[in-house]
Amino acid sequence: MAEKITAFRFDRLDQTLSQLNKEDCAIIAGGTDVMVLHKSRRGVPPKIPKPVVFIDHLTELKQIYRNHKDLHIGACTTYSDLLEHPLIPIPLKNAIKTIAAPAIRNRGTLGGNICNASPAGDTLPLLYVYNAKLLLRSVTGDRIVAIHDFIQGPRRVQRNHNEILAEIILPSVLEDGVHVIFEKVGNRNADAIAKVSFAGFIRINENRIADIRFAFGAVGPTMVRSIDIEKILVGKTIPLADTDIIQVVAAFDKIIRPIDDQRSTATYRKTVALNLLRYFLSLKQFRTN
Ligand SMILES: Cc1cc2nc3c(=O)[nH]c(=O)nc-3n(C[C@H](O)[C@H](O)[C@H](O)COP(=O)(O)OP(=O)(O)OC[C@H]3O[C@@H](n4cnc5c(N)ncnc54)[C@H](O)[C@@H]3O)c2cc1C
Repeated sequence: MAEKITAFRFDRLDQTLSQLNKEDCAIIAGGTDVMVLHKSRRGVPPKIPKPVVFIDHLTELKQIYRNHKDLHIGACTTYSDLLEHPLIPIPLKNAIKTIAAPAIRNRGTLGGNICNASPAGDTLPLLYVYNAKLLLRSVTGDRIVAIHDFIQGPRRVQRNHNEILAEIILPSVLEDGVHVIFEKVGNRNADAIAKVSFAGFIRINENRIADIRFAFGAVGPTMVRSIDIEKILVGKTIPLADTDIIQVVAAFDKIIRPIDDQRSTATYRKTVALNLLRYFLSLKQFRTN
């Protein structure tokens, strides 16, 4: 017989935060990672070692709005809702379309993808190049943390047990002259976990690179990004010289250290990651989005 668990489903966010402040609970948004993590075998309900708090229904965590140039996305917005929303940037929608199948997209949330902190989380490379900031809320107030500080390693995030990720804030998506791409390589176009993923962000001002960012997924314990390497290209004219491209690819060659696993080999991952970078840097024309 299945063991009983204590589960809470409050009407409001403040009640939920009070509960989290009282005791350490397992937060469940869509549950698409939590349920898989805790499953034992077919037909047996997952065994979750803490009381459970559901947050998927809380409207306070599902708002999407603009505040000046920032885009705020409620952490419990599902992928299906994000795909429908006019404010969500096209590259993020493109990434979401590669995630799982519609049934999972109806449940899975952006906040869940971040807090699960999988090296292969498909929204993460984009969120890194957008310089996403995360608004964490608790009974004692709000704090904002950069995504690269929040994610510490596979399934490891810098969240206190009394906090909920309330919003994802994207500061760069509404800037002029920005071009962003997302590429995922998996066994299929969707419903496959990434072997490698890549996001590139470039802002051009009068034919010169004003800002450029890259992030690679599934080639390390967390997303691979290097601000020092990005700086090499700032101020260069477009199209880039071959020597600049070679220098940047060589620099990433040194810091990308993938592993072999059931999905791919380290050699394949590194080759593809560097090819995606080369492809992005060789683009002659950038379309803004
Ligand atoms: C069949 C299948 C296919 C999948 N395919 C893909 C894929 O292609 N690409 C991909 O990236 N992922 C994939 N996933 C993984 C999963 O769907 C995503 O990571 C999804 O975004 C998780 O969101 P969720 O709301 O279901 O998270 P949950 O399972 O509810 O939670 C995940 C973790 O985040 C915590 N959490 C969730 N929300 C919050 C919050 N607001 N504040 C604090 N903590 C929170 C939970 O406590 C838990 O630790 C797949 C999963 C399945 C089952």
